[in-house]
Amino acid sequence: MSPTKPDLWRIPPQETLRASRAGPIAEFPADATPGFDGDRKNGTRLLADYGTRLAQLQEKLFAEGRAGGERSFLLVLQGMDTAGKGGIARHVGGTMDPQGLTVRGFGKPTDEELANDFLWRIRKALPPSGQIGIFDRSHYEDVLPVRVHNLVPEAQWRSRYAAINAFERELTASGTTVIKCALVVSKAEQKRRIARRLDRPDKHWKYDPGDIAERAHWDRYLAAYQDIFDLTDTDAAPWYLIPADRKWFSRLAVARLLVDGLTAMDLRWPAADFDIATERRRIAALEG
Ligand code: AMP
Ligand code: MG
Repeated sequence: MSPTKPDLWRIPPQETLRASRAGPIAEFPADATPGFDGDRKNGTRLLADYGTRLAQLQEKLFAEGRAGGERSFLLVLQGMDTAGKGGIARHVGGTMDPQGLTVRGFGKPTDEELANDFLWRIRKALPPSGQIGIFDRSHYEDVLPVRVHNLVPEAQWRSRYAAINAFERELTASGTTVIKCALVVSKAEQKRRIARRLDRPDKHWKYDPGDIAERAHWDRYLAAYQDIFDLTDTDAAPWYLIPADRKWFSRLAVARLLVDGLTAMDLRWPAADFDIATERRRIAALEG
């Protein structure tokens, strides 16, 4: 199961989408499909393929955890409203065994969360050994809306980038592979998606009148995102910019990053802790 087997990716997303190389987010084309030679149909078919591989890789990670291994995997998803974070969690996480997957969303902090350090609620939600965790929003919210709306003094949010790097270093050193994906939706596509939410009764629950007000701060959000990439895109916990105007592509790109990230862990089925020949004999001797 090689991650680099030729499959319509002319250039792997690790090369085109890594935040430090992909250029400023303000100029990043949200409707592009960089490095991928196929169309929506090819992409959707390949995504199904990745789903099968992800399920196998996840089972190996789970088995390793059961056998006493301490590794885990964390996918951090960020992005403006309607960028598709929830859809990624459903489509990319959907093929995996729910026993080995935790999807956690982070909304406005509760009073208890606000009374604690900003990483407190994050630490409690980290995937345990053998598990894959997906964060729908994350500790990066504490340098996004918090910064844009001055929810804490500047000195405090400025100190958080270093705190985040230290936290992620500690996390990866203790055996968690971390991949961070920022879903980049264009302003025009966001407007279409917000409008569509109003048109469909089954989407009204997702409509938040506050999203319109957030949109007015678009450029300040972009600046806050850019600082995140400039300050926290590390080899230990890399950031990728995911073009998100075409949902099929954002799902495919994130799935590929996950497949490759899990493959690089070089997972092995745990060896039996019993004697196989002895157990075969015991089974052969059973009645019936
Ligand atoms: P949703 O993801 O649509 O459920 O929205 C969650 C909301 O909570 C978004 O408006 C986030 O920006 C907001 N949020 C998440 N974390 C924080 C935080 N640490 N401080 C302030 N707002 C936050
Ligand atoms: Mg929302």
